[in-house]
Amino acid sequence: MIPFQYARANDIAEAVRLVAGDPKAKFIAGGTNLIDLMKMDVERPAMVIDITRLPLKQVEGIPGGGLRIGALVRNTDLAYHPLIETRYPVLASAIMAGASQQLRNMASTGGNLLQRTRCAYFYDTAMPCNKREPGSGCSAINGQNRIHAILGTSDACIATHPSDMCVALAMLEAKVHVTGPSGDRMIAFADFHRLPGDTPQRDSNLNPGEIITAVELPAKGFVSNYTYLKIRDRLSYAFALVSVAVGLELDGDTIREGRFALGGVAHKPWRDAEAEGTLSGQPATTATFARAADVVLRGAKGYGHNTFKIALAHRCIVRALTQAARGTPQSQSFKKIL
Ligand SMILES: Cc1cc2nc3c(=O)[nH]c(=O)nc-3n(C[C@H](O)[C@H](O)[C@H](O)COP(=O)(O)OP(=O)(O)OC[C@H]3O[C@@H](n4cnc5c(N)ncnc54)[C@H](O)[C@@H]3O)c2cc1C
Ligand code: SF4
Repeated sequence: MIPFQYARANDIAEAVRLVAGDPKAKFIAGGTNLIDLMKMDVERPAMVIDITRLPLKQVEGIPGGGLRIGALVRNTDLAYHPLIETRYPVLASAIMAGASQQLRNMASTGGNLLQRTRCAYFYDTAMPCNKREPGSGCSAINGQNRIHAILGTSDACIATHPSDMCVALAMLEAKVHVTGPSGDRMIAFADFHRLPGDTPQRDSNLNPGEIITAVELPAKGFVSNYTYLKIRDRLSYAFALVSVAVGLELDGDTIREGRFALGGVAHKPWRDAEAEGTLSGQPATTATFARAADVVLRGAKGYGHNTFKIALAHRCIVRALTQAARGTPQSQSFKKIL
């Protein structure tokens, strides 16, 4: 039995005060990741701060045409929200590709951003892991690394970020609103998650004492030409080996703007401005898409079991861009399960 304290925050100021007052305190939202980590002795918070009663459950329009999503909006409620389904279908698709219905019913927007890697060595406290215990070593580099990263890795860690939702949020250029002891700030989604470098224990640039309050979506949602393609070992209830979120703006058959983000390949959702730049002004053809894939994967590195991901990612990028250009997105099964 490992004792811990439980506290419930009644407002955001109280949540910040509680978490800032104890470096070993942790927020709990849906609990779908934190509780597992506590049961496996990976996380040992001295205090668990329940934030589920905070008023952060709204999806609302903001000036300029974007949307503000409260950090406690459940994944299911977000995926089925009429404004998300109609204006940001790539986000709805990405959320519905993740986890299971029961998990999505519990999982929150903020918790999804901060879920931790699924590297098996991270969960196995008998094995060295720099993310869990800095300086102990990385068991995956020369171990079972089939699900691990091929881009942005370091000698300290080759873990991936497991979220589907975050891949779509990266492509949409969302912003993360946070509040801490020194006030409010906004973090561009590209700067929210970190590469492992020599500090793999830090997944994000959230500072100690800060809480995520909302995620903001800009007005542009790529309603006509988008896709979220997820390749995994089973058709459902499995994390991505590789995933791709695409948004295209077309002028006839010519690409005016092309964006894509990759999941399952790096410590954060992976975007590459140079690769996306190769799409602009080009015809929406397989050759154009293959060139963009070549560019984004130019620095990819396999570690043995995961080397297949390089070719897989190339094919996924071409397929996802093709689907988006044709207006035939991957997953559209939004039948609500009540
Ligand atoms: C079996 C299984 C399969 C899964 N499959 C997938 C999948 O295929 N794709 C996918 O994307 N996800 C998948 N997930 C992960 C799931 O989406 C996450 O566990 C969930 O999104 C986390 O949200 P939560 O609210 O439950 O977070 P919690 O477990 O409550 O918290 C997670 C972390 O976030 C912190 N936190 C939570 N809210 C805030 C906040 N507002 N501000 C600051 N910190 C906060 C907590 O302190 C904790 O460190 C799976 C999970 C399981 C168990
Ligand atoms: S890849 Fe990262 S999380 Fe996995 S064992 Fe290595 S250091 Fe730990």
